[in-house]
Amino acid sequence: MKGDEIVKTAQAIHDFIQLAIQNGSSTLMDKIYLENKVLAFIGEHSMQPITQTISNQPLELLDILIETARKNEVIQTTTDQEILKAQLMDILTPMPSQINQAFKDLLKKDSQQATNYFHNLSKKNNYIQTRAISKNIHYLHETKYGAIEITINLSKPEKDPKEIAQAKFVKEMNYPTCQLCMENEGYLGRVNYPARSNHRIIRLDLNEEQWGVQYSPYAYFNEHSIVLNTKHIPMKIDQRTFDNLFAFVDKFPHYMVGSNADLPIVGGSILTHDHYQAGNHEFPMAKAKVRKVVTLHAFKNITTTILDWPMSVLRLQGENKSDLVHASLFILDKWKNYSDESVQIVAKTADSIEHHTITPIVRKRESVYEIVLVLRDNNVSIEHPDGIFHPHKEVQHIKQENIGLIEVMGLAILPPRLKTELMEVEKYLLKEENTICAIHLSWANELKETNEITKENVHRIVEKGVGEKFLQVLSHAGVFKDTNEGHLAFERFISFLNEFGKN
Ligand SMILES: [Zn+2]
Repeated sequence: MKGDEIVKTAQAIHDFIQLAIQNGSSTLMDKIYLENKVLAFIGEHSMQPITQTISNQPLELLDILIETARKNEVIQTTTDQEILKAQLMDILTPMPSQINQAFKDLLKKDSQQATNYFHNLSKKNNYIQTRAISKNIHYLHETKYGAIEITINLSKPEKDPKEIAQAKFVKEMNYPTCQLCMENEGYLGRVNYPARSNHRIIRLDLNEEQWGVQYSPYAYFNEHSIVLNTKHIPMKIDQRTFDNLFAFVDKFPHYMVGSNADLPIVGGSILTHDHYQAGNHEFPMAKAKVRKVVTLHAFKNITTTILDWPMSVLRLQGENKSDLVHASLFILDKWKNYSDESVQIVAKTADSIEHHTITPIVRKRESVYEIVLVLRDNNVSIEHPDGIFHPHKEVQHIKQENIGLIEVMGLAILPPRLKTELMEVEKYLLKEENTICAIHLSWANELKETNEITKENVHRIVEKGVGEKFLQVLSHAGVFKDTNEGHLAFERFISFLNEFGKN
């Protein structure tokens, strides 16, 4: 490296360690020791800082350090780079015990201060990938249910071809057991497994069980957090889930919290590790209008409503948590055994395979607790081999993945392939040269027939078209459709619930 580059690097190291001291992860006494650590990490051998600060922004300094490491050939692949970034950011991050103590002290005063502290720290140390997240495409789409949110997820890094080739020779490993296990805290990372040196987890007690809280590195919404069981045990929606969700909002009343369903097709992408998702966001479903107020005879203290939403949603509100837990458990149990073949709803098939479960979401508004129960069914048919209540063939060109917790609430997470594919659709609509995918062709033709397309409006028309498709996706996932027939079927289910506890 040239002399001025060496000086610049040294100053970047100096500034970087200043941040560690300011953050409270180290003291002035650690300065020389840490500077030497950074030198070793990036393949440099001496410190000669200039006197002018380069930056106090961790990411800007990180860029300089990574660039030096690349020039020194300490890192070759994307994996090397991700590992080194996390190792460097680890230096800026206090130890788990320090963070947990600070969080605990703040929590005693004010839960919002506690989450702000940990959220800011997770952003500053680059655990939350703010740069990558800012690449996501996000917009609102107006529907008769209110505005829904559409996101094209571009934040997850693309695999480097060198890595794909390397991966073939990598030995299968089972440590950490999965990406939600506690053992990820501080884990170095490897090919095909994320670097977690700068990862920290807050320990939390929920109904005398040990849980952990972390922010999602690729947040889909504000303060998107993951609440994870400290044991690697499968997802299961039962009384414990309901109890824990309520316990969570008691600790963090400014957050909503929900769980993915516990069956394939209607669950999230990880069914093998029990976890919830929480955050500081008002989802479209939380703003949905009431379609109908219903009475559950067994639970007269609870206000029960059917929400005006494309999926089938019961909202229970009340001041007493245990009433709400009992009512939720009652509805879950009855739903698990409820069939209505006139609308293709079958609770169990051969060998008593269960098909019914619930996606629950809890929040607290002042002294009123609220739990939203989304009825789910993962059965398949000859006509719908991927799932009767899963995105059907005609919408899979936009979305074919599971409809999990976040999407249920009206926030679409669409695959990255759409970014380029939709650009080709736009060109096709403008009759420009294009490489439109065959899967989008009939939809594009529909858009062409129903719209007057110009260069100015084509982007908006495609965005709206995608929004409409996502609305269709949600209605496919709804067990009782938003039609007269569906409304009557929903009422039959409510009557079924009221056959119990009549007095
Ligand atoms: Zn796990």
